[in-house]
Amino acid sequence: MEKLLAARLHAVKVRPYLASALFALHIVEDRSVPTMAVDAHWRCYVNPGFVTRFPLEELAGVWVHEVSHLLRDHHGRGERYAREHEPDERREKGAPAGDRGRLRRNIAADFEINDDIYGDGLPRPAGAVLPSLLRLPDGLLMEEYLHTASMSGLTGDLAWLDCGSGADGQDRPWELGPDGAHGLSRQQRDAIRFRVAEGIKGRPGDAPEGWRRWADEAFHPPQPWRQLLGAAVRSAVGGAGAGENHSYRRPSRRSAGVPGVLLPGLRRTPPRVCIVIDTSGSVSDAELGSALLEVAAISRSVGGRRDLVSVISCDAAAGVAVPLCRAESMELIGGGGTDLRSGFARALRSRPRPDVIVALTDGQTPWPSAQPSCRTVVGLLPRPARTVDEEDPDYVPDTPPSWARVVTIG
Ligand SMILES: [Zn+2]
Repeated sequence: MEKLLAARLHAVKVRPYLASALFALHIVEDRSVPTMAVDAHWRCYVNPGFVTRFPLEELAGVWVHEVSHLLRDHHGRGERYAREHEPDERREKGAPAGDRGRLRRNIAADFEINDDIYGDGLPRPAGAVLPSLLRLPDGLLMEEYLHTASMSGLTGDLAWLDCGSGADGQDRPWELGPDGAHGLSRQQRDAIRFRVAEGIKGRPGDAPEGWRRWADEAFHPPQPWRQLLGAAVRSAVGGAGAGENHSYRRPSRRSAGVPGVLLPGLRRTPPRVCIVIDTSGSVSDAELGSALLEVAAISRSVGGRRDLVSVISCDAAAGVAVPLCRAESMELIGGGGTDLRSGFARALRSRPRPDVIVALTDGQTPWPSAQPSCRTVVGLLPRPARTVDEEDPDYVPDTPPSWARVVTIG
């Protein structure tokens, strides 16, 4: 116990922004746990033999790893994923841990965490589960890794991996459950997440990009772009099964060398997305901030393929379509009146042609009179109550046209 607590203190020292979460975990000694594991109620189950064997600084890394599962709500997200994508898995509820669905989710959750937690006082242990094992990019979310790769190339080697239901949403036999002692309530869990997120936003220099993004999105989850864009692409091409490019589906020699791996796009060609951002004077900085969060989420939804995403900033006139390199460093210029029609025209002229146009706007714009030749998603940015336009007090903005899929952001 002494070594375990010393390791937690080391974790707090090198990752101060996670302190309140690390101290909130309740330790439960349990010899049936392979290493260390967490449940949804913020209990941390620990095998004493594992603590004895593992070096202290690496143990600190395990603390950070386990608490990351909880902050990132891998329990809730894993459960949701299983419900929506693995209907058979649900029927096996109560089946012994180790079945494939839960292991795949655990691996994907570990990818999401491990790509940026090591270094700076936390040495990377030899067996760390990293996206590079499957030649996948860093920086994606658990769900995106699950959609991108089948994980079957790893489930054999990683059968030992078990971070508890806190990592994948499936109960384990050793867990104390919702009625057991020392569990945190939903309100307490939310309070910890909120405190950690505020701490990171207050001192963004201390935390890596993945945690800053988490803090931005923890209480303002972005749109489910993968579904929005996926549906758009299918209907753009028309008919079931469309949107699949057969030449692209032929397994490449490169993926053949990595058993069980589907490289991004092999299941379905990710759509080429052109995002038109309304940068007119009526759009506030806070709205532009939300727009950038959505841009980052859109780029993740195409498997991190930034080359498939381009951005046009548009007020009364549209800028050129710029490829998305880093949404965070993107400069949005504008500030004039609003007319997104030029942005649409510019997007449709760009080459290669986009499969989907996403317009992020406060909605105070005239719309193209004709339906564009590709699908359109309009993200309406949250708009505070505005004062009446003095030059035209009767002005009422047009509602977005019926050919666009409209989602409200925020
Ligand atoms: Zn884990």
